Amino acid sequence: MVDHQTLGLDYTTSECGFQALASSVEGVAGASVCPRITSVLDPSVVISSTSSGVPRLSKAARLARKASWMKRAGGYLNLASFYFAAPDDEELLRNRLDFCLHTWFHERKGDLLRYRGVGCGDRVVCPVCASYYQSTLADDAVKCILAAQDGVEIGEGVKLLSFGLKLETTLPAVVSERLDALLLVDGRAWRDEQSKFLKLTRDLIAWSYGQGAQVGGIAGNQYSGESAPCDPHYHSHNYIFPAVRRAGVWSALPRLSSQAEIKALRDTWTMMLNEAYGLDLQESDLHVGYLPKVTKLSHYLHYLYRPLLADLWAGWSGVEDGDVDYRHSRGRKRLLLAPDALARLACRVRSIPFKFKRIRSFGFFSDGQRGATMRSLGLEPVEVDEDGQVSSSKWERVSINRFVRYVREGVVLRQVLCNGNGDVLRDEVEGADGWPVFRERLGPAFIVLNGALDYRPSGVNIGKRKRWQTPGSIKGV
Ligand SMILES: [Zn+2]
Repeated sequence: MVDHQTLGLDYTTSECGFQALASSVEGVAGASVCPRITSVLDPSVVISSTSSGVPRLSKAARLARKASWMKRAGGYLNLASFYFAAPDDEELLRNRLDFCLHTWFHERKGDLLRYRGVGCGDRVVCPVCASYYQSTLADDAVKCILAAQDGVEIGEGVKLLSFGLKLETTLPAVVSERLDALLLVDGRAWRDEQSKFLKLTRDLIAWSYGQGAQVGGIAGNQYSGESAPCDPHYHSHNYIFPAVRRAGVWSALPRLSSQAEIKALRDTWTMMLNEAYGLDLQESDLHVGYLPKVTKLSHYLHYLYRPLLADLWAGWSGVEDGDVDYRHSRGRKRLLLAPDALARLACRVRSIPFKFKRIRSFGFFSDGQRGATMRSLGLEPVEVDEDGQVSSSKWERVSINRFVRYVREGVVLRQVLCNGNGDVLRDEVEGADGWPVFRERLGPAFIVLNGALDYRPSGVNIGKRKRWQTPGSIKGV
């Protein structure tokens, strides 16, 4: 049973609201017990929750809730629209971010019911939608890699020695600074430089891991780092599949664990940088390691797929005299981000061409080769929908609800009231300028517990996509 004392609701909203909150059924109530509302649902069905306590929130839930806090005056919403939109589009971006998760649809599919928030769909600037989009792609990538590993181990009988390798190559600060300046004045030259950096990293991977065989993996470029999210820090994260293919024959990739091997790799990278950029470095910044567990694989791929502004969102702790209060290293370190620094970050994010914001697959996983590789491993494609499901049945909308506030247990909503024909009821009220305006009529506030909420924003265009699986294994897709 929900503890009413902790909800912070205005119980005087209406008699219906009080009745809703006092319902003996745990979780959602309100709309369906209000006699003025025509509801097709039995409240005992609506009010389902998976837990009687407060379950640990998912990453999507925590982000959604933090994003709501960031909408407050002086928060991310105001600053983001100022920095990240072109001057004429500032209002548009502000409205879009403000709209994100303001509306929650109550939906039904068969016996299943859920409340799902409507996202704004912005895959770069919106913390909720961009994170959802990228983490969905990362989930797909993890499934694809695990299916391929099964194909190599079970189908080809090769015992793999790890879940893959990770390699991070970094451009020296002086080169990062030069490229960042180039981005604003000569986009074509910047793209050529990026392609050169990508090729350099691929050459290093082929030299180190391929040795005559073909490698495959996934790469993601990042342009700044956690400790200084506005400064240029061009680096590339690479996931390398733990098997190589030589003339159609697969073999396991060693873990590359000896210090001598790692030193040889680092020295080679230093040499390549010196040659490519006319430098005289004695050492370079390069990190390498193997992934010993499936959880490490998943974590690394999600890290690789994270949005360009992920560090800024994670560290955003408020605004102080125009500067952003930014915390990092698990909150131990603090930085004030000045308007100039934010402008530089925004300019970079706006200017980077779409192609270079994307994650890329390479080698036998590249777009042109992935299908043939997966088929050769005995895997078959299955098309999944927006929800990542094979099923083509759709969720049907039951009602539209507006966001009021988050509470510890879930979210407080108010239903948009309709007449018997499904038309939204509106009341004429006096607007701020004295002219009459029509405002939609809302039902009393009610609470939906976290267990009945789907925090993944809808409206983020992910589209149907292909997923690879072992033959016949529909379960768990
Ligand atoms: Zn959004």
